[in-house]
Amino acid sequence: MAGVSRFFGAVEAGGTKFVVAIGNDRGEILAQERFPTADPTSTLAAVHAFLRQRGQAFGALAAIGVASFGPVELDRTSARYGFIGQTPKAGWSGTDIAGSFAGEFACPVGFDTDVNAAALAEHRWGAARDVKNLVYLTIGTGIGGGVVVDGAPIHGLMHPEIGHIYPRRHPLDLGFDGVCPFHGDCLEGVASGPAILARTGASLQQLDATHPQWEIEADYLGQLCAQLVVTVSPQRIVMGGGVMSQARLLPLIRPRVRHWLGGYIDRSEILTGVDRYVIAPELGDHAGVLGALVLAMDAVAAAATSVSGRNVESSAGSVPRPHSSRSPC
Ligand code: ZN
Repeated sequence: MAGVSRFFGAVEAGGTKFVVAIGNDRGEILAQERFPTADPTSTLAAVHAFLRQRGQAFGALAAIGVASFGPVELDRTSARYGFIGQTPKAGWSGTDIAGSFAGEFACPVGFDTDVNAAALAEHRWGAARDVKNLVYLTIGTGIGGGVVVDGAPIHGLMHPEIGHIYPRRHPLDLGFDGVCPFHGDCLEGVASGPAILARTGASLQQLDATHPQWEIEADYLGQLCAQLVVTVSPQRIVMGGGVMSQARLLPLIRPRVRHWLGGYIDRSEILTGVDRYVIAPELGDHAGVLGALVLAMDAVAAAATSVSGRNVESSAGSVPRPHSSRSPC
């Protein structure tokens, strides 16, 4: 099969939009479309139709990868594997999103969180392709993080919810209650895009460079990175998302990472090389859909291993659900 391209369906399921694509195993996107996230039935029907119709142009899809907003159930032994959990996104709580693809298409379906998938994509093709262990953070409407260890995303009890740690409050920010509906002033509650808006009445990009919000934001995100260094020990931290699209923010964060580590981590990556340790993504807005592509590729590998009779626990997982009316991939 060397030299023969395989084609995969890739679905980035976001809270505001779905990105669906056909890609190959070189990470090339060959067709792509976006759908606004409406109700589950109509949204998933549109995505299924795209994969069915556009997939035919490429002969057959080897697998489909789904990178979903969370929380999601990743325990493959659970009856709710592939389901979206309790979410403020109207109508989506309890949606069997992975199963909807497995029920429609007769090929392996890989499934994980959107941030785990983005971490996998940056690991496979982007800013962390030279390391084994990384954290990918997205700082935007919410704050989330995917953790990849030895090339596989961490699941465990569920999946990391990095945005909900509690930071030490910045001295200039003590009067702000935070916006997280669960915790108030957790990190997402004080450093997400909505938190910035609630505190200042503006987005970060609308604020003058001398506005204290820049210092506050950099401090909180520096704390996040420092906490990750001492808990997860990543070889790289990749920071993306809408808030991070302000290029002047990252250089403000790095000194705060060193500050909060207090000289305790005696490694050149922190002491002198932090510019290469805490970095921007290379895949930009494509990390999510490319991550879904990695999930699809890994699902093929998992299925092949399963067929060969070996019992493995795959990072991607697949959703085998017999269905009499499934489309051939
Ligand atoms: Zn929270």
